[in-house]
Parts: sequence; C-alpha cells; structure tokens
Amino acid sequence: MAYGFDTLQIHAGARPDPATGARQTPIYQTTAYVFRDADHAAALFNLQEVGYIYSRLTNPTVAVLQERIATLEGGQGAVCCSSGHAAQIMALFPLMAPGKNFVTSNRLYGGSVTQFSQTIKRFGWTAKFVDIDDYDAVAAAVDSDTQAIFTETIANPGGHIADIRALADIADKAGLPLIVDNTSATPYLCRPIELGATLVVHSTTKYLTGTGTVMGGCVVDSGNFDWSASGKFPSLSEPEPAYHGLKFHETFGPLAFTFHGIAVGLRDLGMTMNPQAAHYTLMGIETLSLRMQRHVENAGKVAAWLEQHPHVAAVTYAGLPSSPYNDRVERICPKGAGGLFTVALKGGYDACVKFVDSLELFSHVANLGDARSLVIHSASTTHRQLTPEQQQAAGAGPEVVRISIGIEDADDLIADLDQALNTAHG
Ligand SMILES: *Cc1c(COP(=O)(O)O)cnc(C)c1O
Repeated sequence: MAYGFDTLQIHAGARPDPATGARQTPIYQTTAYVFRDADHAAALFNLQEVGYIYSRLTNPTVAVLQERIATLEGGQGAVCCSSGHAAQIMALFPLMAPGKNFVTSNRLYGGSVTQFSQTIKRFGWTAKFVDIDDYDAVAAAVDSDTQAIFTETIANPGGHIADIRALADIADKAGLPLIVDNTSATPYLCRPIELGATLVVHSTTKYLTGTGTVMGGCVVDSGNFDWSASGKFPSLSEPEPAYHGLKFHETFGPLAFTFHGIAVGLRDLGMTMNPQAAHYTLMGIETLSLRMQRHVENAGKVAAWLEQHPHVAAVTYAGLPSSPYNDRVERICPKGAGGLFTVALKGGYDACVKFVDSLELFSHVANLGDARSLVIHSASTTHRQLTPEQQQAAGAGPEVVRISIGIEDADDLIADLDQALNTAHG
C-alpha cells in the first residue's frame, strides 16, 4: 500500500522495537554490537551481510532516520551525518578528485559559499559559481573535469526558487549528477528527485528537526544515476582496494552511493550523526507537514504585510505575486514557497542593524527553520566573509535582513516587526 506523506513522516523506517515492543524508536546509545560468531563478523566486514558493527558506520536509531528521510524524498537510500556541511562533503566526496570541479549556484547559504570557494580548494576541488537561472552560463561552465551541478531548492537567504527540472536536463545532457540542497524546502514542499535530481542533501538542523536543538545532515540518493556509464566516477565504478576489489555500483546497483557513503564515507571521514541527534530529528519529522503548512501560511501573511510597509524597499518571498519566482512555486514547490526570505530596508545598513536590535519576539540568531521566528543581518554575520560582489549575488547585501518565519501567531509577528521598523527609522 502506498501511504501518504503525513503517514510516512510518522511511520517510515520505524517499527515496534523487536526486543521490547517499545513503540517509539529507542535511542540505541551504543558504540558497538556483539557479533554472533567470527563468520558473522567476517561477513559484515566484507559487506557480504548488512548489519551493525560500530556506530561510526551504522546505528539503529540513525538507520530509522535514514530510511524515513529517503522515503519522504522518494530516494533509494540515505546516509545521515553530523551536520549539513558534512552532508555536502559526503555528497561530493565519492564524485570528486584533485583537479575536478563542480558547477554551483552563486545563491547559497553563506557557509556553503565559504566551504565551496575556500576550504575545498585544499582537497584540490574547485567550485565554479554561476547564476543558476542563466542556463547558458550553467552549460558553458561544464568542462571535461566537471563532476556535478549543485543548487539549493529555495535559496538561502533570498528564498529564490531554482528550476530543478531545467537544471536536471542540463545535467543529464552533460552526463552529470544534479545535487540539490533541499534544506529550506524540505520534502514536504519540494521533491527534487521527482524533478530529476540525482542526490538531495539536507541540513537536518533546520526544518526537519524544527526545534533548533541538534545539528545533523543527510545525503539521499535517487538510485537513478548510472555511475559506470562514463568512467568519470571511479570511486563507485572501479574496484575498491579497502574492500578486496569490490565494485560498489556493480555490487549494490541503485544502493551504490548509499553503501559507499557508509562503508567508505563514514568509515574514513567519520562525520557520523549520533543517536541522540537522530532521535530529536525523528521527533521533529513526525510533525513536518503541519509545521511547514504554518510556516508557509505565516510567511505569506508577513511578507505581504512587509511589502506594503513605508520603510520597506523590497521583499523577496517567492510566494508573493510580485516575485519573479512566483510562477515556479506551482511547478517546483507546489505546497508553498517556504518560510525564508529577505527584506530590504530603505534606511540601508544602519536601519537593518537597529531593526534587528529592536525586535523582541524574533530572535537574532544564525539559524533558520526553527519553530521560533528568527532574523539575521546576513551582511554582518553569515555572509560577512564574502566580498561585496558575492554578497550581492547571494542576495545578502548590506541593506538586507534575512527572516525565517516561525509557527507563532502571525499577528504577533507582524506587531513585533512593526514596532522594530518604526524604531529603526525613528
Ligand atoms: C544551515 C544550512 C547548511 C549547513 O548546515 P549545518 O547543519 O549548519 O552544517 C547548508 N545549506 C543550507 C541551505 C542551510 O540552511
């Protein structure tokens, strides 16, 4: 039977604990698992049998979360890890090698711009930043060393929606996987795999957990990419020396990327999610659809109110009819444009700083996707390390404040914004 989203967000991957009947998924707080005998241990270590060895690789609580997220995204498998940034490295690691590059949107979470423009250079990887809406520029940036195309669904901070279907076509023609960061949309609002994405990455820190409690990340594989076709992805298609010459794609088919992520990625990079974090995120996902509906409803009300405010220069919410991205909501994010957008104030940088300092209900934090409404002045914080050109491209100029709308009463949020706007311009 094919269950609906609301049923799957509660049940997918979970079943009563076989040992105790516990209805809720237990937190398996253990580092290791007893082998039945030496043959069993050998079979596990050879990947001939699937089971638990050591919690750096697999843990039963984390495994439930992996199956739940894979199911909600419509993927074949998923690997959870310690943060959203870890998920990005885990997604790229099997694809990349020194001298290789990937093409990426220039509208990304500030930390991702830094990770991609600075830190990965030490691995010999290069990110080529392009305007992801300029399809000629995306196609032109692909060269013989390009290994992937990367975008966010609803771009942080501006809330711009990427046309995943158009990007998947470009990736297909180039024989490349499309990686989509679906953090700000969540699988409730957008299902990138149905639109042609190969891999989906998440910061589960955000809406999936939804309470601002634990860090986490996830890589979901669609299982649809032929890793052996071009010879470009030897980690997945060629013999793996650390597993007696096993070829992941040949052996595991549509689960190749997931098995590689656990057996090589987590084993050797060690960016493991802990079972406590998996527990909090499982609790969060049980109410994902209800929360996202309210995030979208509140964001629509607040954005429309802000847009007509005399101190406001612009609001980027794609759910507003005035947004150039409004026609993509129906096609890409049919259940709504999310809860994240920016507001540009007529008073510029100084007004933004005063505005952020004057808010009482909104918290000034470097986070998004919490049940609470959050605000941050990107140019002086998350996007601070970026050049002015990078800030503008990312939609995080000095006159702009990022807003993550929570699930409180919309009227209370509007009242708080009103008093802060008046103070900032007083
Ligand atoms: C927060 C975020 C990340 C990074 O995730 P962490 O869990 O903070 O490491 C990546 N992408 C997007 C869109 C984010 O919002």
